[in-house]
Amino acid sequence: MTIAQQTPQADHQLPDVQAAARGLYIDGAWRQSHTGLLIDVIDPSTGARLAAVPDATIEDARASIDAAAAAAPAWRATPPRRRSEILRRCFELMIERSEMLARLISMENGKALRDARGEVAYAAEFFRWNAEEAVRITGEFGIAPAGTNRIIVDYQPIGICLLITPWNFPAAMATRKIAPALAAGCTVILKPASETPLTAYALAAIYEEAGVPPGVVNVLTTSNPGPVTAEVLADSRVRKLSFTGSTGVGRLLLAEAAKHVISCSMELGGNAPFLVFDDADLDAALDGAMIAKMRNGGEACTAANRFYVQSRIYDAFAEGLAKRMSALKLGAGIDAQTECGPMITRKAVEKINRLVEDSMAKGARVLCGGKTLAERGFFYPPTVLADVPASSELAHEEIFGPVAPLYRFETEEEAINLANDTEYGLAAYIYTRDLGRGLRVSSGIEAGMIALNRGLVSDPAAPFGGVKQSGLGREGGQHHGIAEFMEAKYIATSF
Ligand code: NAP
Repeated sequence: MTIAQQTPQADHQLPDVQAAARGLYIDGAWRQSHTGLLIDVIDPSTGARLAAVPDATIEDARASIDAAAAAAPAWRATPPRRRSEILRRCFELMIERSEMLARLISMENGKALRDARGEVAYAAEFFRWNAEEAVRITGEFGIAPAGTNRIIVDYQPIGICLLITPWNFPAAMATRKIAPALAAGCTVILKPASETPLTAYALAAIYEEAGVPPGVVNVLTTSNPGPVTAEVLADSRVRKLSFTGSTGVGRLLLAEAAKHVISCSMELGGNAPFLVFDDADLDAALDGAMIAKMRNGGEACTAANRFYVQSRIYDAFAEGLAKRMSALKLGAGIDAQTECGPMITRKAVEKINRLVEDSMAKGARVLCGGKTLAERGFFYPPTVLADVPASSELAHEEIFGPVAPLYRFETEEEAINLANDTEYGLAAYIYTRDLGRGLRVSSGIEAGMIALNRGLVSDPAAPFGGVKQSGLGREGGQHHGIAEFMEAKYIATSF
């Protein structure tokens, strides 16, 4: 398999990378870091340097806490209707600039432009949804069971929030946190991933233009995330940590937050099972499999990581999936023809390669792909592996790449047990024409989200999140997402 050549784009369609890299965004101003040091941003389709962003220090982190603290009283007192209008404007500007944002995401993350466009639409929707939620925050009023007093419950903004996000959805993982936090009346410090900071800064310019006051959103990039974020968490003015990323880093941050008893929302790793029962509509299951596996080139926490297929339909499913996967066009994400872009780093490619080689050594059969591409950039070809032994490392680890391992099962009970044989519990996919079975299996699977006869589960209007070691709390949904950024205050009174 070869990689398509990049098609030149008209200049006006390309994002201004230098403008996006102009500085840390603290207190409504663009600044360099205290040391003047920079972090290189790499184009994964070539391995070349795309831009460089400031490398924030502990002093920069302190400045961002001071800015968030100074802005907090006025933002909290801003009428919900006004906050809502500002969030709505963020949504509108993101939609107006969606092509520029999608191209920027493709350039720094590598994902196919069609996936980047999908991400921008999804990311913007968090502003529209939370603009609507901002004016619907209510409290409770009741009578105590003893009849002695009234119970009033008021929901208040939790305070300054530290938001830490990964590289795989540079826009959506940030807006999924910023929009509900601002709707609730909180001020925030965002630390985006070092691989994809440009989108976070381009979005900060949009918030500024939409009327978000200085200090309400602060963005800083650092090559030293442990000490810098520990400094933020140690400040008693900071009351919330909302993290999206790997389970390993999530555990470290939970331990750090525990020192200061800080409220934590954790969106962590996944190992999603994709179950195909032999009564499934085969074409629909294959369409769903392609979305569940290949959105973002497999670099999604919800990506199908293990395909369990019932014996009678196994061969047909394997053949159909290999045909579709091998037909995908590989190339630079920014090229409109590309269907699968590069992985984020060379290290990511090496990890995928290691997992595939381990399963092959244990007896898996390669139906397509299966070898690292020795061309420039960080490419790995779409791969289907059949008869994968359960002892393979990729049955237990997040692959985070375009690799679909197939396993066979016989009974419904076996399928549920196999699906649950993981420390993770984020998403699961089920294909069956039997609705009773679909709902029974949905109830038996330990996951925060189930896609039943669908390849896509994410929706800003639905609660997103995992169980087991996939996380704590929910983002999006009616009340769920915004509730993570509020605290209940109970007032007892008699009259
Ligand atoms: P990661 O390595 O955990 O990094 C996530 C963020 O944490 C980055 O901003 C990173 O900064 C920062 N970080 C790293 N070490 C840190 C430390 N010691 N202290 C504080 N912050 C630290 O994850 P990733 O590789 O970027 O993203 C992939 C992972 O995210 C996968 O496991 C995926 O499943 C998960 N994910 C989950 C969801 C969900 O909603 N459940 C959504 C998307 C992704 P640097 O970039 O500077 O290292």
